[in-house]
Amino acid sequence: MIKQFPYINNVIDCLDSGVFVIDKNFTVHLWNDYMAIRCQFTSDDIVGSSLFDCFPELPQQWFKRNIKSVFLLKSPSYSAWEQRAYLFKFPHGRSVTGGVEFMYQNCCFTPILGQDNNVEYVCVTVKDVTDIAIATLKLQNTVTELERINSIDGLTQVYNRSHWEKCFRNEVDRVNRYEHPVSLIMFDMDFFKKINDKYGHLCGDEVLRETTRRCTNSLRSVDVLGRYGGEEFCIFLPEVELTGAAYLAEKLRHIISDTPVYYNSLAVSISVSIGFTCSRSTTNNYEQLISEADTALYAAKNNGRAQCISFFDCDV
Ligand code: GH3
Ligand code: MG
Ligand code: MG
Repeated sequence: MIKQFPYINNVIDCLDSGVFVIDKNFTVHLWNDYMAIRCQFTSDDIVGSSLFDCFPELPQQWFKRNIKSVFLLKSPSYSAWEQRAYLFKFPHGRSVTGGVEFMYQNCCFTPILGQDNNVEYVCVTVKDVTDIAIATLKLQNTVTELERINSIDGLTQVYNRSHWEKCFRNEVDRVNRYEHPVSLIMFDMDFFKKINDKYGHLCGDEVLRETTRRCTNSLRSVDVLGRYGGEEFCIFLPEVELTGAAYLAEKLRHIISDTPVYYNSLAVSISVSIGFTCSRSTTNNYEQLISEADTALYAAKNNGRAQCISFFDCDV
């Protein structure tokens, strides 16, 4: 038989993780120095007491459920920081906080079997994972920001073409499956080159920004606006039939054109030409709707600009 190492408790106190042992009544039987250093209870204070009496802020229901399952299944259970940031409100040991107040923890609940092969105790380990958590959260934030930047047009802050097209393709797939309508409006600034030539590109930029602001303020939250090209924009309108699209197209035309855009105290008059279409049973894919709105927009330009034309009024 292997002789028990006489300093086993010293070893447990040397560990760089919290370790404690409880029975099924949540009475504490072992409490290492790591735990003692980070809360007001030494081993002498807490051994023999109820864990919940000493830590009333512990998530009791959740904790009891976990421990119960360890007793029942005789297998370990875990609590990862991603699901529950911490079990014990300990300060973290970082000199640079990284914006966090408390120690992120991974906890493990391991069964300790008695001689009859039943679970007698549960050993809980508390591991400081603050560094990993902060690095992971930073990375997640960076990925989210990169995804945002990758989907937004820098000048106007509306969706860029590739992201807008992805959204539109998904929407057309969805409406085709459920036989719901989706309308598409495509508009292009009239004689925009002249605005650039006359007032400069910075003024042209402001016109584009103000145009998207005017649109955004008039759309429902479910309508999706995107910059399709230089001075060309698309909006898809979920659940909107052709008459609704015609109404909104005309409304947008007025909202964009009725008031000049002010730039450095210059009043710049603008107008837009608009083409629109709507899905129906013969709609194959989103590209078809884009092509139809484009045809209608081309007709609006050819017909003298500053007007809205439906694809269904075009000679094709
Ligand atoms: P039409 O009525 O036929 O649409 O005439 P237009 O002048 O608007 O069309 P054209 O295609 O000849 O010119 C579009 C201009 O839009 C040319 C391009 O320099 C300008 N443009 C494209 N993107 C931007 C931008 O981000 N900022 C500015 N200021 N101008 C842009
Ligand atoms: Mg144009
Ligand atoms: Mg254009």
